[in-house]
Amino acid sequence: MTRFIFITGGVVSSLGKGLASAALGSLLQARGFKVRLRKLDPYLNVDPGTMSPYQHGEVYVTDDGAETDLDLGHYERFTGVASRQSDNVTTGRIYSNVLAKERRGDYLGATVQVIPHVTDAIKEFVLSDVTDEDFVLCEIGGTVGDIESLPFLEAIRQLGNELGRDRAMFVHLTLLPYIPSAGELKTKPTQHSVKELLSVGIQPDMLMCRSDRPIPQGERRKIALFCNVREEAVIPALDVDTIYSVPLSYHEQGLDAQVCKHFRIDAPEPDLTPWRKVVERIRQPEGEVTIAVVGKYTSLLDSYKSLAEALQHGGIANNVRVRLNWIDSQIFESEDVVQYLDDVHGILVPGGFGERGASGKIEAVRFARERKVPYFGICFGMQMAVIEAARNLAGIPKASSTEFGPAEEPLVGLMTEWVRGNQLEKRSQAGDLGGTMRLGAYECRLTPGTHAHQIYGADIISERHRHRYEVNINYRERLEAAGLVFSGMSPDGLLPEIVEFPDHPWFIGVQFHPELKSKIFDPHPLFTSFVKAAVEQSRLV
Ligand code: GLN
Repeated sequence: MTRFIFITGGVVSSLGKGLASAALGSLLQARGFKVRLRKLDPYLNVDPGTMSPYQHGEVYVTDDGAETDLDLGHYERFTGVASRQSDNVTTGRIYSNVLAKERRGDYLGATVQVIPHVTDAIKEFVLSDVTDEDFVLCEIGGTVGDIESLPFLEAIRQLGNELGRDRAMFVHLTLLPYIPSAGELKTKPTQHSVKELLSVGIQPDMLMCRSDRPIPQGERRKIALFCNVREEAVIPALDVDTIYSVPLSYHEQGLDAQVCKHFRIDAPEPDLTPWRKVVERIRQPEGEVTIAVVGKYTSLLDSYKSLAEALQHGGIANNVRVRLNWIDSQIFESEDVVQYLDDVHGILVPGGFGERGASGKIEAVRFARERKVPYFGICFGMQMAVIEAARNLAGIPKASSTEFGPAEEPLVGLMTEWVRGNQLEKRSQAGDLGGTMRLGAYECRLTPGTHAHQIYGADIISERHRHRYEVNINYRERLEAAGLVFSGMSPDGLLPEIVEFPDHPWFIGVQFHPELKSKIFDPHPLFTSFVKAAVEQSRLV
C-alpha cells in the first residue's frame, strides 16, 4: 500500500521545503521503506527549461529527459532514487494537457472547469507511475495563500479525503521568526498560515517549524493548541551547518517517528550511521582545496546547485573541504586572469548559454592548459576548451561556435540530426526553445587507455545531457594532431562526448552534466578524481 505525504509551505518562501522533503524521504528510506519524491510547481511555464537561471536556479535534468525543478536534485542526492518525468509537474503542463484534451473533444461536451477537470488532472498526476513504493512524498511549490497554488491545494485536499488518514498525511513547513527586542520566537505567522490552509479545507497533521534557535516547550505547546496539531507533531526544524545534517537533526526532533505514528506503522529505528559519518567528514576535513568556477550566473548560486554539491561530494571522498571561488568570466575581458586564477588548485567552466562571457571562459581554459592547473569543462566548458585548443594549438584562429552567430570555422555547431537508440531525432534552428535540446541520458563509449576510461573503469557509460550544440566531428583529426584526445564518443561515433589532454595532469571536458548524477553516498567518479588532482596541485603551489 502506497502512502502519500503532502508537504506545503507557509509564511515565507525559501524555507527549505525541498531539503525538508528530501530529508524526510531519506529517513523513511533508512527505516527500510521504498520512497519516491515529487514536486508540483504552481507556475505557468510548462517546465523550467525556458526560465532564466536567475529566476529559477538550475534546471535539473532526469534520465528520461525531463527538465525539472532543482528540488528534484536534492531528492536524488539524498535518496539515490533517480527522478523521472513523472516526478515534476507545473500548472502550465497540467493546463496544456487539459486544453489539448478539450480540443480533442475528450470531455464529451462538458463545461471544462478548474474543479473537477484541472484538479482531476493533478490528482491523476500524483497517483500515476507508482508501483511498489511505500511512500510518495509530494512537495507543493510556492507558499500557502498564493492564488496560483489553489488548484493544487484543492487537489490534495480531495486526495486526503479519498485516500483517508491511513494513506495520506499533510505536513506544513512554517517559520518562527525571532524578534530580538522582545527576545521571543513568534508563533503568530505560523498560526495564520495554518488558518490559511484550513480555509482551503486542509488540517495539517504535522508542522515543521523553521527556527534559528531551539523552540521552548511553551511555544511548541502554544502552536499545538492553536493549530490543532499534537504537541509532539510540532517538529522544530532548526538551522544546521551543513544540509547533510538535516536528516540527523530532524530525526532527533522526531520527524520520522511522528510520520510512522500518524500512519500507525511499527517500523524499525533507522540506522543513520552513514549520515553521521558523512557529516563528520564534512565537519572535520583533513585539508582544503580551492576551485575556481568560471561561469556566468555566479551571482545566484542556485544556478549551479548540483555542481556545488558534486564538488562537495568529491571533497568528502578525498577528505578535504572544497572552497569554491565563483568568478564571473566577463571580468577576464578587462582584467588579467592571472590575478584571479594564480593560486587556485583547479578550474572548472560549467554549463552555460550564449556569447556573453565566452571569451573570458576561453581565457580561463588557456590559463589552465598552459599552467597545467587541473581543468574540468562541463558542457559549454568542454565546447570552450575545444575552441581554445583549435585557436591556440591547431592553428584555426577563426574557430568558434555557431551559437555565437555564423562561423567560418564551426568547431561547435548545431547538429540537426542525431541518433538515440535506433530512433532518429531532429533539431531545427527555427524550432521552439522549450524542450528541444538534446535532453536526458545518452550512452557514451570510452576509448581504452584514456584518462576518462581509467576514471570510470568502464567501456560504456550513461550520462545526462542538456544542450543544443555539439563539437564538430569533422575537426577531430586536426585537434588530435594538436594533442587533444577524443576519449568518449556517442555509440555511433558521431558525437564527441569527452575530450582530454593526456600530457596535462588533469584536463577533461565533457559534453554532458556529470554533476546531475553525483549523490552524497555515491560521489561521481569525475568529481572525485578532479578534486584529487586539485589536492595534488595544492601540494605544488
Ligand atoms: N550552450 C551550449 C549548447 O547549447 C551548452 C549548453 C550547456 O552548457 N548546458 O550546446
